Amino acid sequence: MIVVMNQGASPDQIDRVLSRVAELGYQAHPIRGEQRTVVACVGDERGKFRLQGLEVLDGVESVVPILKPFKLAGVEWKREKTVIAIDGARWGLDRRLTIGNNHLVVMAGPCSVETREQILESAEKVRRAGATVLRGGAFKPRSSPYSFQGLEEEGLKLLAEARERTGLFVVTEVVTPADVPLVADYADLLQVGARNMQNYALLKEVGKARRPVLLKRGMASTIKDLLLSAEYVMSQGNYDVILCERGIRTFEDYTRNTCDLAAVPALHELSHLPVVVDPSHGTGVRSLVAPMAKAAIAAGADGLIVEVHPRPEEAYSDGAQSLRPEEFEQLMAGVRRIALAEGRSIG
Ligand code: PEP
Ligand code: MN
Repeated sequence: MIVVMNQGASPDQIDRVLSRVAELGYQAHPIRGEQRTVVACVGDERGKFRLQGLEVLDGVESVVPILKPFKLAGVEWKREKTVIAIDGARWGLDRRLTIGNNHLVVMAGPCSVETREQILESAEKVRRAGATVLRGGAFKPRSSPYSFQGLEEEGLKLLAEARERTGLFVVTEVVTPADVPLVADYADLLQVGARNMQNYALLKEVGKARRPVLLKRGMASTIKDLLLSAEYVMSQGNYDVILCERGIRTFEDYTRNTCDLAAVPALHELSHLPVVVDPSHGTGVRSLVAPMAKAAIAAGADGLIVEVHPRPEEAYSDGAQSLRPEEFEQLMAGVRRIALAEGRSIG
């Protein structure tokens, strides 16, 4: 349910509503807008009719149900686009990044952090091409237990060194709830991978961390499933979620996955959260990455996450879909042209 307050509702009247919602056993999520405050009340759907009684409280204009199952991630509660800010002050960096609502972000780097030389060289090259966030997995969720599993904390330290040298922010994956505090100590954005999109214990844990979350769509998940997973994170009080389309499994086997670009405008219709596209996992084929990156921006994506490796033929993981640095430079030039044509800025 949403409690819509009157335009002139006083802080006391709003507080009274918040405490009454809590007494009824629901969580209150207020948005204090310039015009008015609206409060989403979420919790057990079965007893929600009891919230209707809040209508009689002073300062309340109306109490209306939220029709969609994703309450906080949807546009019924929040119409204005969510803009996520990342501040380098935490690391002594004089840099700030905003993501969403026409501020495009490009995250780039190798699939995995492999060696110090590899990650530092990758960081330098993607920064020069115009990326603002460095990607790289230190904890790798691999389909086979015999594949490279990542450098773990050593990898996180190397990412931190790359940030210090280049000023790039860092996005890296967390695969286990117990590792969230450790990864949050090093990362600017916490990545939840496709294989973990419905790992609800992990979603709740990243919801408690005070870091933005990059939530990748599961390979057999619907758009609704993705938004319900975002809801898990947001219901813990972490509203900074970036949705990521990274391709889904279909009968097509020429590509590794089918990159569902219709998901981009669909998610923008249903949700206020920023949406980025991963054309690397979305196609699995190096030559298809740049065309799909441009198509993603044209479809309205708020950014990209792209795999780039200085020597893809030597990569420990995902070499076949990783761009060489010069190919990434060309991708950036193409993406910039499309963004500029639409009056949107990158970085
Ligand atoms: C990755 O980003 O390297 C990764 C493992 O992605 P996904 O979870 O989308 O497969
Ligand atoms: Mn990968």
